[in-house]
Amino acid sequence: MKLFKPKTKTFLPFHRPSLGKAEEREILDTLRSGWITTGPKTIEFEKRFARYIGCKHAIALNSCTAGLHLALVALGIGEGDEVITSPITFPATANVIIHQKARPVFVDVEPDTLNIDPDKIEASITPRTKAIIPIHFAGHPCDMDRILSIAKRYNLAIIEDAAHAIEAKYHQQKIGTIGNFTSFSFYATKNITTGEGGMLTTNNDEFADKIRILRLHGISKDAWKRYGSEGYKHWDVIYPGYKYNMFDIQAALGLHQLKKIERFWKIRKTYVEMYDDAFKSIPEIILLSRRPHIKHSYHLYVILVKNEDLKVDRDTIMNLIQSEGVGIGIHFRSLHLHPFYRRTFHFKRGDFPNAAYASERVISLPLYPALQEKDVRRVIKVVKKVISQSR
Ligand SMILES: *Cc1c(COP(=O)(O)O)cnc(C)c1O
Repeated sequence: MKLFKPKTKTFLPFHRPSLGKAEEREILDTLRSGWITTGPKTIEFEKRFARYIGCKHAIALNSCTAGLHLALVALGIGEGDEVITSPITFPATANVIIHQKARPVFVDVEPDTLNIDPDKIEASITPRTKAIIPIHFAGHPCDMDRILSIAKRYNLAIIEDAAHAIEAKYHQQKIGTIGNFTSFSFYATKNITTGEGGMLTTNNDEFADKIRILRLHGISKDAWKRYGSEGYKHWDVIYPGYKYNMFDIQAALGLHQLKKIERFWKIRKTYVEMYDDAFKSIPEIILLSRRPHIKHSYHLYVILVKNEDLKVDRDTIMNLIQSEGVGIGIHFRSLHLHPFYRRTFHFKRGDFPNAAYASERVISLPLYPALQEKDVRRVIKVVKKVISQSR
């Protein structure tokens, strides 16, 4: 597989998108076609993505955040409502609940997967609860059987944050076909990328129609139809919609990224196995669990450094790794510890102990197809060195 090469070899970045000639050609084709906004390539990308997931509707958007937001809007979630989610996530998951003037209700994570702990969901349900947003953290599917049965019992909608989980399966069932809505991300660091971009999937025809209208100003006909060969057509405003559409330059990337998705996955799987082998016997490193009966999408390789057994804290270890020329990520510091959430909801550190514990220990290591095996070996060497220096 031919991918563009990095310019510098001294610093190994945390992520590099895996783009190549095919994407370049498709972008040029888009530019030369005279149609650069939402049009034939976006429609084709939606079709192929829906086929890949095995869902009825895939709606292309400018982000995963937009998908999470539109799902809440379509469900009519608003002021006075509560939405359950977990705090080890990117801010978008909870911010969109705030945008709807609803209240995010955090439930702590399982310590070994950092996914929402299904045992703790019921205690957080009130008569105002309308939906649950499970996050398939790092690409490991949440315990959907348990979450579905709770949702059914209390008549709650499920909106899955699958930003990490495009390839993931839960008991043979593809993520994107389970909850009422699933939102995927094609941000630059995700498993496949359109630079910025997202896709919302659903099997519900009515919601799909509504979301297609909401994503582009709430008008009845998109530009592709308004300016088509059949002549000008009037359009009507049906809802006060949003500007959330994907455009064809993004879709041009997506079409080719999607073709490579399983090849990319296999490469990351090899690297995950190398990391597992290297780190499983280091007592100061905790690896996340992988449950049976799931297909992990291997989006992030997260280690927890047991700073209680080391002389230094995570941030020092993080800086030491980076000063050795290896880029890392932090996924995530719990949202309940961030100023806005702490201040608005009066959270204390101990409110979500597993999330708080992880917040101070997680480090994500480079994991992407543009890496070579020797890069992975280099990361392993650096991490081992830094840990042994910190004992
Ligand atoms: C990246 C990410 C998002 C947001 O995706 P965008 O496409 O950037 O909007 C949401 N949730 C999680 C867990 C993410 O990692």
